[in-house]
Amino acid sequence: MPSLTCPGCGEEVDISDLKEGDRFDCTNCAGLTLELVRREGELTLRQVQRVSCPLCNQMLEVPEHARPGDIMSCCGQTFRLTYEFGAYALE
Ligand SMILES: [Zn+2]
Ligand SMILES: [Zn+2]
Repeated sequence: MPSLTCPGCGEEVDISDLKEGDRFDCTNCAGLTLELVRREGELTLRQVQRVSCPLCNQMLEVPEHARPGDIMSCCGQTFRLTYEFGAYALE
């Protein structure tokens, strides 16, 4: 069966029912969402990063190519994306 390694826990994930662009939650990693993507012709799993709005606590998706210092908006305000201790935050 086709499988890939979860970037969160390192466990093999069965991808036989998945196609490129599909998203799913890793059964081993609490709250970790994975997306099946193609990189240089190879299917791979990437972790969908989320960050919570400081005002409403809604979880916002961090765009794949976002970098610390990028601006994200919610609640009619803009926030700067930071990355510390392995997690994204907005301030
Ligand atoms: Zn995992
Ligand atoms: Zn908000």
